[in-house]
Amino acid sequence: MQGNEAIARALIENGCVVATSYPGTPASEILSGVMSWQKAEGVAMHVEWAINEKVALEIAYAGSQSGLRTAVAMKQVGLNVASDPLMSAVYLGVTGGFIVISADDPGPHSSQTEQDSRLLAMLAKIPVLDPDSPGQAQELVALAFELSEEFQVPVMLRPTTRVCHACQDIQPAPVKKLGRTADFRKNPSRWAATPNFRYRLHLELNEKLARMAAYGPTAPRRLNPGARANKAIVASGAAAGHAREIMKNLGLWDNIPFFQVIQPYPLHSEFTTEILRDFDEILVLEETTGVIEMQLRDRDKVRGKLSGAVPEAGELLPELIEGIIAGFAGVTVPAVPQPPTGGGRRPTLCPGCPHRASFYAIKKTAPKGIYPSDIGCYTLGANLGGVDTVLCMGASVSQAAGFHHAYRVTGEERDVVATIGDSTFFHSGIPPLIDAVTQRSRFVLVILDNATTAMTGNQPTPAVPLAGGVPVEISSVVEGCGVRFCKTGDPLDLPGFTRLVKEAVEFARKDSVAVVIAKSPCLVDRNRPKLQRDQVEIDVTCTGCKVCTSQFECPALVFDEATKKVTTDLLICSGCGVCMDVCPSRSIKPREEKP
Ligand code: SF4
Ligand code: SF4
Repeated sequence: MQGNEAIARALIENGCVVATSYPGTPASEILSGVMSWQKAEGVAMHVEWAINEKVALEIAYAGSQSGLRTAVAMKQVGLNVASDPLMSAVYLGVTGGFIVISADDPGPHSSQTEQDSRLLAMLAKIPVLDPDSPGQAQELVALAFELSEEFQVPVMLRPTTRVCHACQDIQPAPVKKLGRTADFRKNPSRWAATPNFRYRLHLELNEKLARMAAYGPTAPRRLNPGARANKAIVASGAAAGHAREIMKNLGLWDNIPFFQVIQPYPLHSEFTTEILRDFDEILVLEETTGVIEMQLRDRDKVRGKLSGAVPEAGELLPELIEGIIAGFAGVTVPAVPQPPTGGGRRPTLCPGCPHRASFYAIKKTAPKGIYPSDIGCYTLGANLGGVDTVLCMGASVSQAAGFHHAYRVTGEERDVVATIGDSTFFHSGIPPLIDAVTQRSRFVLVILDNATTAMTGNQPTPAVPLAGGVPVEISSVVEGCGVRFCKTGDPLDLPGFTRLVKEAVEFARKDSVAVVIAKSPCLVDRNRPKLQRDQVEIDVTCTGCKVCTSQFECPALVFDEATKKVTTDLLICSGCGVCMDVCPSRSIKPREEKP
């Protein structure tokens, strides 16, 4: 199983009956895994792709308040969105076991930060479990439910990309039938606690934390009890898995004591005392911040991120850990030939992706505009010069308003054309749109509606929910926000769509925010039938101007240096036909020979 699938399996095995999520790499496959296992095992559950992480957490938390085992999954930046209810839920506590799965992305591979969710667990004052592999993630889900119910607090599970996406042979365990029914017990002084009660709840939480720091099942594990030395290695998460292998390869496993920390926060109090007492030098390997190191308060003995022995940013790759361990142990690393690096090509939108046409139309219409954008595959519009800023989910709308006001107050006017995906609009684009209307901000918002959450694997959106859901029309929401210009067009009809964006830009210059919904389905959405469209070919009139390859940048168009003309890569051309409207000399035609 993939790590995410193993986590999903473990949730079902341990009696989870409410599971929610908002997709985000590396966590996306957890909820789809839950859906598959639920179906396979015939378990009665509520499984939901929520509109955002905050809503997802609140829904799952209510299930826990009703005495059921529940879980919410998200990527680490999603936890920022969900942190408001999380902080409060920790004080109130839980009834049924409640796991908050926050998947971190050291590197980062596909995130705007490489923040360490364990720091948010410290801030919230909840225990966090840090698996090193898919198999251990399965084990720690069971432990997290027990810990959560034992101390009545939410428990965080923090896998990282390497754990989420690694595959391992996993033995599925039987599905526990807990036989619980929802049983919410009214207790306003707890569930609706006023600030005075919150203070008391905080004191209780501090007391729980002290007990959790002594809870046997989550204590650090000494994995090589025979090793004896005056130095030790402490590691958690994927770094622990790498370190174990590396120590064996370097012949250090029987020499240097190795401790795996399962629960980086709160770090076990007895372990802290003993390790500082028993060893002169301690190397700490963890991703991405020195959470364990911070709690081992002895700067003279502890080597890690805070001491400068381990890099404070980036993923702890095996080759990096190998050098650190070898240096700590005073051994030499045998030279291994490194594979060649480099090559490949930069990421780009798919051939025929409707977003490419939308960016092209925006740039043609407002060439001197500012283009705030958002989180999704359309961020790749940066290659086309159609993306100037990317901050966080929903920020394109508020930033567009911010740019408008910044220029307005200094007496200048500038076109601002923002882009946001359909799923991101629902996630957190609606409040800033209402704000823009009430503040009479003047910009254009192009909602790139491809009817799916494309980047994370085609999860549903509120406009296209799973079977049985009630769809919510984007245009109705936009109009309900008070927007007076809201029109829909197909970006693959480039001339018509360009006219529509122009109309919107003119409206925004004079009046207020204008919204254009660029509606065209994602080409790689597995949930939709593939469209049959005519591929294109280039005729002899091609002048080699490169407009189609450098400005429009469809990867299916290839400039031939020998002939100084463009040809079509028919293996990837999707037949969208937009390039025919891009070519100034009309040299691109529908292909005569049909495949
Ligand atoms: S029709 Fe043109 S723009 Fe569309 S995928 Fe083929 S080459 Fe690219
Ligand atoms: S835009 Fe047209 S003329 Fe220019 S290189 Fe492409 S196919 Fe040739």
